Amino acid sequence: MTIHTAAGAALIENLTARLGAASVLTEAGDIENHLTEARGLYRGEALAVVRPRDRDEVAFVLQECARAGIPVVPQGGNTGLVGGGVPYGGVVLSLARLDRIREVDPVNATITVEAGCLLKSVQDAADAAGYLFPLSLASEGSCRIGGNLATNAGGTAVLRYGNMRELTLGLEVVLADGRIWNGLKGLRKDNTGYDLKNLFVGSEGTLGIITAAVLKLSPKPLSRLTAFIGCASPHDALNLFERLRQAAGDQLTAFEYMPHFGLEIVLRHSSGAVRPLSGTHASYALIELTSSQKDADLQGSLGTILGEALEEGLVEDAVLGTSEAQSKALWGLRESLSEVQRLEGGSIKHDVAVPVSRVAEFIETASRACEAAMPDVRVCAFGHFGDGNIHFNLSQPVGMEKPAFLAQWERFNRIVHDIVHDMNGSISAEHGIGLIKRDELKLYKDPVAIELMQSLKLALDPQNILNPGKVVSIGENAPATFPATAGQP
Ligand code: ZN
Repeated sequence: MTIHTAAGAALIENLTARLGAASVLTEAGDIENHLTEARGLYRGEALAVVRPRDRDEVAFVLQECARAGIPVVPQGGNTGLVGGGVPYGGVVLSLARLDRIREVDPVNATITVEAGCLLKSVQDAADAAGYLFPLSLASEGSCRIGGNLATNAGGTAVLRYGNMRELTLGLEVVLADGRIWNGLKGLRKDNTGYDLKNLFVGSEGTLGIITAAVLKLSPKPLSRLTAFIGCASPHDALNLFERLRQAAGDQLTAFEYMPHFGLEIVLRHSSGAVRPLSGTHASYALIELTSSQKDADLQGSLGTILGEALEEGLVEDAVLGTSEAQSKALWGLRESLSEVQRLEGGSIKHDVAVPVSRVAEFIETASRACEAAMPDVRVCAFGHFGDGNIHFNLSQPVGMEKPAFLAQWERFNRIVHDIVHDMNGSISAEHGIGLIKRDELKLYKDPVAIELMQSLKLALDPQNILNPGKVVSIGENAPATFPATAGQP
């Protein structure tokens, strides 16, 4: 999109006058990190990066941008994986300085935080108050809670505690014209009309700028048991999951999945990683049981379930991580998987969900289809099995040129997403739509739903200045969805 230079210059002048020069960055070196994203797929451009200190300054920025008709792209930690934070003109609005914990209410079991708080800081503040804030994901040391809200983040504790949407009770939001909606209520019950907060959670900055939130806290787990389990197939892993959920109920906090290939590349590349079981298996499950009782006999209950499953052949082998150090080592295997794929060359990624009942069938069907399309492709299907959310990634065949492999991206998208769609699934489980899946979404989402999304967008942002071109496209100016020069995805 083109920005009229005079309008842009006047805007920068007004913003600088109110916020101060230190809060309005325009030098190339200062704004560089805000123009790209974690995977190196996109590179945008911006007039300035604006760094307000509080909600009222955010409101001022929005008022001025609305008056000038200039786009605003919000950023938190800029750790997103779908290009949602890349600016194509206009200003980047960094929420990083809105980083106060406003209140902890232990009796209400809530915490009120500003959008720029690091996820880790929210976890630590909850911990200091004797509670757990359960959202947990790989980038928790650098992602910010506003981004977690804007993308409805998931992660490894969704099975027990839900995703960001389910952890949110109230929001404060600055609208496209600079008005402030105060919805900071910590209520479990509030039937006073439309659920506005859920419009903004997961809207990826396209409907409003979240500046603060009231989040739910949970009792701290005081007992914990981790186990790493080898199974002969994804179907056996699914049977085990069903059995564990029945027997362990709410104690089952995580059920993560890794394939043979995934564990092997972790052991190859991750320093200090130790093979957890003596043999190799087609499928692995990392499970965790927790209890808010101090001396809960998790080992006793898990031992009984696993003993039966071993006898029936559902489980081939298992190891328990009974100490904190053992548990950490087992989790480390799962957590390093995202990172080590890079070291195996080009990777074509899908973040999809199907009903949990079909997750094993999905892994097998999609793996066969991709292997039929490219016999030496290496499928790395892993993730949040207990949520039906699989990161269905494909590593390039050994010896193939990376660009030649990445050129097949759209072809593999079609294969995998068609299978997901046939299983009544979703083409984005937890990463969002951003830029990379915007046009893909039109192929799979109900057309009436797309129309409703466009109507909401125009109602809340009639000038289309809030993160334009992301999630839904309005008008002709939307940037291309697929990166012109694909780097390492
Ligand atoms: Zn994930």
